Amino acid sequence: MTAAATSSSSRAFVSLIGAGPGDPGLLTLRGAEALRRADVVLFDYLANPDLLRFCPQAETIYVGKKGFSEYISQEQINALIVEKAREGGGKRVARLKGGDVFVFGRGGEEAEACVQAGIPFEIVPGVTSAIAAPAYAGIPVTHREAARSFAVLTGNTQEGGARYETLAGVDTLVLLMGVRNLDQISADLIAAGRDPQTPAATVQWGTTPQQRVASGTLATIAQRVRAAGLEAPAVTVVGEVARLRETLRWFDVAPAGPLAGRTVAVTRTREGASALSELLRARGASVLEVPLIRFAATENAAALQTRLRDLSGVTWLLLTSNQAVTALFTHLEHLGLDARHLAGVQVAAVGPSTARSLAEHGLRADFVPSTPGARHLGAQLPARPGEVALHLTSQVAEAELQQTLEARGIRYERAELYRTEPARLSTPELERLRGADVVTLASGSAARHLAALAGTNFTVAAMGPQTADAARAAGFTRVTVAREASLEALADAAAQALREEAEASES
Ligand code: SAH
Repeated sequence: MTAAATSSSSRAFVSLIGAGPGDPGLLTLRGAEALRRADVVLFDYLANPDLLRFCPQAETIYVGKKGFSEYISQEQINALIVEKAREGGGKRVARLKGGDVFVFGRGGEEAEACVQAGIPFEIVPGVTSAIAAPAYAGIPVTHREAARSFAVLTGNTQEGGARYETLAGVDTLVLLMGVRNLDQISADLIAAGRDPQTPAATVQWGTTPQQRVASGTLATIAQRVRAAGLEAPAVTVVGEVARLRETLRWFDVAPAGPLAGRTVAVTRTREGASALSELLRARGASVLEVPLIRFAATENAAALQTRLRDLSGVTWLLLTSNQAVTALFTHLEHLGLDARHLAGVQVAAVGPSTARSLAEHGLRADFVPSTPGARHLGAQLPARPGEVALHLTSQVAEAELQQTLEARGIRYERAELYRTEPARLSTPELERLRGADVVTLASGSAARHLAALAGTNFTVAAMGPQTADAARAAGFTRVTVAREASLEALADAAAQALREEAEASES
């Protein structure tokens, strides 16, 4: 490849992505896609860290500013975006920002930094908290009868504040960054002519399980917010529409079920959304999904690429995880290749989930064992003795697959496609994990990873006696065992753990 070709094919690209207000379901499809493709992700305090599950292989950097204490300045963030985009011949950078990119997000400045550095970029708008937090509190910002216009203002007086007199004709006002100055702001609004009896509501952590709302009037809202102990991040709505919460409240109604009002952390050592989370939510819990492992790039990319470039002699490609499929296509893309490169080999998937990942890339698996698992794949693969099966996997590949295939005279080869490493939790992720009432453990390795990452001061529910033993060995003392090895039983065990704890504290 010539030097010119190298630079024109640089991957340097920046996606400025609105993460939405907190509920991970409010990320846009385009935002999820941009995260999936990212090499590096810079995320801030208000972007829900759950969204990082879309980019398990990317380098993630927390650049959060919390309140007024700046850990990292805007200028440093701009510089970091450019630096990361240029790193190693060009990387795809995803900049994940709370709410919408251009609503008080300083996204404009980050885009300008890209322009100045000559780095191509895209803007992926997000659902802004200015509209979504009121919506999750049952407050429409406009309404045919109550409001025909709305304005979004900053309540941060450091940034100059708004000129309230000029807003006289606007029906609904939505204040961001205003909780600390609410006394002053409401006094100023009244002085500028707003009726002190105008309904008002403040929504903290809108759209998340932690959402809390205080209601009142322009005259009382600051005091109500103080009494309720609401702090940033919060949005305050001032206008007739705030009254509609009385009839339209829907999201923060009291949940029912044995886990109502409790937070359960679901740990996982595999990729994929958890069916367990759904079962827990059905029991009223708010669920925090905590990945305990992360995927990293192979340490020997050169060897891998050589292996991938020339697949002659290989009869079967073996893929034993979704992550392997994702990594395979990333490497093919790096090599300037696509699915057609695999036309001459047969592809086997370890189970239906991996087969589905292949299908998403336009490939139908030639073989999937009737029961998912490495052992069954090894036993059932329709290969003949002497044929070569290439297993594209991580550094912790199951030895079983190799043993079963070699016992059948099939030549087993392995290439390290990616690496599995212990997860690194950012400060906000750790804080949220420590706030959980109970943590579920589906395996002994989950218990050991959790202890290493966050300590053992947790009430845990374990999938079975083996997991429970491993948890105790790792240092956990409050352990409840599921009555059988099923997700239903594990969800019940989480509820039981909290019941036992409540009983213990009563006696
Ligand atoms: N770009 C963001 C706003 C960033 S300014 C957006 O479009 O939403 C930060 C302010 O946003 C916070 O001080 C708070 O006023 C508001 N905010 C962000 N997320 C919020 C949430 N989940 N609930 C309530 N307010 C939120």
